[in-house]
Amino acid sequence: MYHSVGDATDDPYRVTVTPDRLSAQLGWLRRRGLRGVSMTDLLAARARGEGRDLVGLTFDDGYADFVEHALPCLRRWDCGATLFVLPGRLGGVNAWDPLGPRKPLLTADGIRRAAAEGVEIGSHGLTHVDLTRADDAALNAETAESRALLAELTGAPVTGFCYPYGTVDARAADAVRAAGYDYACAIDPGALTGPYALPRVHVGQNDTALRLLLKTRLHRLRRRAAAGV
Ligand SMILES: [Zn+2]
Repeated sequence: MYHSVGDATDDPYRVTVTPDRLSAQLGWLRRRGLRGVSMTDLLAARARGEGRDLVGLTFDDGYADFVEHALPCLRRWDCGATLFVLPGRLGGVNAWDPLGPRKPLLTADGIRRAAAEGVEIGSHGLTHVDLTRADDAALNAETAESRALLAELTGAPVTGFCYPYGTVDARAADAVRAAGYDYACAIDPGALTGPYALPRVHVGQNDTALRLLLKTRLHRLRRRAAAGV
């Protein structure tokens, strides 16, 4: 789980990796015989009983720096990814984060540019609200409306959703399913873990080779614990 790719000096929410760090992390994957792909490609491979060598790469919020900094890294290491964007904030900023630098978000053109490079475009809702606190009308707008807007913007079906803040409950997961998505990403969904609450691991600027290795192992252990096996 990535967010922004750029200058990481002023980063109170730890959402930024530098382009050099991202490149080092993707190179680390490739040297271990792994390859980053979109969530749709990962899930399709796993459904066929394949894809043990694949890692889903996700970028939340749709920062403008994705096109400038992440795309060249992905291209260099021949990796795919899923970009979760906010169609209610096109060309806006991360106004939901009270602290830290304002980071510009992609415009419709920027999102189309990423899609044209083979990046999967998914929905992060409309405006980045916590779905577990949304009323029924807001929940419907954040899931169904955002999907329709993105399908129109990209000219392609939108099958992936990502919960803002990673927060999910059964009601939010039901709304995402009812809106027609095939899967949804969370962070640490616990007992809700499944196609509509996929767990992810935060990868940050401090994650050098040794930390990545430890995170890989720890993630596996925690997933096993969540599955009760
Ligand atoms: Zn977010």
